[in-house]
Amino acid sequence: MKNYTIAVDCDDVTAEFVPALIEFHNYTYGTKLKREDFHSFRFNEAWGGTLEEAIEEVKTFNKTEYSKNIMPVQNSQKILKLLKSKGNKLYVLTSRHISMKEETEKFYDKFFKGIFNGIYFSGNSITNYRGKSKAEICSELKADYLIEDMREHAMACDKTSSLKVLLFDAPWNQENGISFPSNVIRFYNWSEVLRLIHGE
Ligand SMILES: [Mg+2]
Repeated sequence: MKNYTIAVDCDDVTAEFVPALIEFHNYTYGTKLKREDFHSFRFNEAWGGTLEEAIEEVKTFNKTEYSKNIMPVQNSQKILKLLKSKGNKLYVLTSRHISMKEETEKFYDKFFKGIFNGIYFSGNSITNYRGKSKAEICSELKADYLIEDMREHAMACDKTSSLKVLLFDAPWNQENGISFPSNVIRFYNWSEVLRLIHGE
């Protein structure tokens, strides 16, 4: 059986970031926002104010217990364990800020021990974090697949011709007038990933 190199995003692919951020925001500001209200990663579009303020709020959130208690995404542990057992090489590829390194390592140590060969931090066009793009890192890793939920990262992978992007469906990655490159395949539940990669 062929095995693959697979880069896997952190937030909202393996870690329930947006639900934890919403809980924090609703508690802090007395709002009743839901996951469906978020149509992009410019969170100010859902809760108001400027993008700069939204980025600051995420930095504040990152220091709270809400962030430290983020849970894994449903089925992600089970399916990633299976992908590992089939001889695939797995990497975490996140556009979290590098200052989140220790907390991110702790999360993977706690919930995904022994599954990933390394954690890579990319740049992020929305937060303006500098660094290599996910497309560039995938190219360096010779990745066959990127499992991702952010529209901007998926869109930027069109030049990495051999890479397939499995896009985890979410309110914030609908096409809304844009169309994804043909190497982007949308999925709805982790249980589909095994079939998409190994045809099972
Ligand atoms: Mg993500």
